[in-house]
Amino acid sequence: MRRLPIFFVLDVSESMAGEPHAQLQRAMESIVEQLRQDPSALETVHISIIAFAGQVGTVVPMVDLISFYPPRLPLGGGTALGEALDELMTRIEVDVKKTSPNQRGDWEPVIYLLTDGRPTDRTDAAIKRWRQHYASRAHLIAVTLGGAADTQVLKQLTDDAVSLDNGSGEDLSRFARWVSASVAAQSQALDVGKNAPGISLAKASDVGISLVKDSDAAPVDDQVVVFTGRCHRHKKPYLLKYNAVPPVPGNFGASAAQGIYGLEGVYPLGEEYFEWSSQSSTNATVSSDQLEGVPPCPHCGAVTTFALCGCGKLMCCNGPGQQTCPWCDANVVFGQGSGGTGFDVGRGQG
Ligand SMILES: [Zn+2]
Ligand SMILES: [Zn+2]
Repeated sequence: MRRLPIFFVLDVSESMAGEPHAQLQRAMESIVEQLRQDPSALETVHISIIAFAGQVGTVVPMVDLISFYPPRLPLGGGTALGEALDELMTRIEVDVKKTSPNQRGDWEPVIYLLTDGRPTDRTDAAIKRWRQHYASRAHLIAVTLGGAADTQVLKQLTDDAVSLDNGSGEDLSRFARWVSASVAAQSQALDVGKNAPGISLAKASDVGISLVKDSDAAPVDDQVVVFTGRCHRHKKPYLLKYNAVPPVPGNFGASAAQGIYGLEGVYPLGEEYFEWSSQSSTNATVSSDQLEGVPPCPHCGAVTTFALCGCGKLMCCNGPGQQTCPWCDANVVFGQGSGGTGFDVGRGQG
């Protein structure tokens, strides 16, 4: 039986934190569940999952549908698309069997590359290598999520770029239905002996997925701002996520020009977050004046997650007094009114 290899290359950068990350997790489970209902898919489809944030890794090596076990997807800072493509090309070399006089190789691999952001690493060399050596023997479909994805870079990579509409909680479940339907159709066609017809994007619009056109607008900058901090009691990390507040029409005041970010939520993190984040951090800063809303600590319930140590890191704080910085172990004294207004803090990558 010739295998049909499907690679998912998934963006797990911090802008995905919260609901999108949970949805992506569910989408992967649902794709496998739906494909298992299809006898042709069950026989041919093999799946591999590569995740990328600041660091890249294969979280599920190529496996058949029955043996597939949904992984816990990681989360990290940064969007290393170039490295993710390098990892994909390595996995194709290792996992996809070529046809030789002694064996029938695998069917042409299909890759779903899903991203909601802009690359934070260099992509030129990887894209060139993909176009020269892989584009003709693999089918890559780029899927953007939300309005901040860099469609220009993705269009250099593949002609098949689609976008999931922003703002609806249904986006990723529609993606899951579309992927399982197209992959099942592909495996059925291969099963009855047709030559590989290729995954069709024609049905995408039926489920609300639109093709990305060359004329599509450049991505909007700085939609999401995130910060990491640690609980001063439990030392556990958390992520604060803020979204740009659209400027009010007719308001030309200074605050509108500066950009205001409203709190979306605070999410507890595991230590693996730092393993998936890029080592370098950007020098960009955003003033706390630009932020609206400070949530309590998700680990201990302290009233603010926005207390700044001299080492430049954030921790939670429950009011005035002395506490130990969970990052650098320094003793920090917070007075009345500190930890709230007007200081600049280092800002994570998107
Ligand atoms: Zn805490
Ligand atoms: Zn410190």
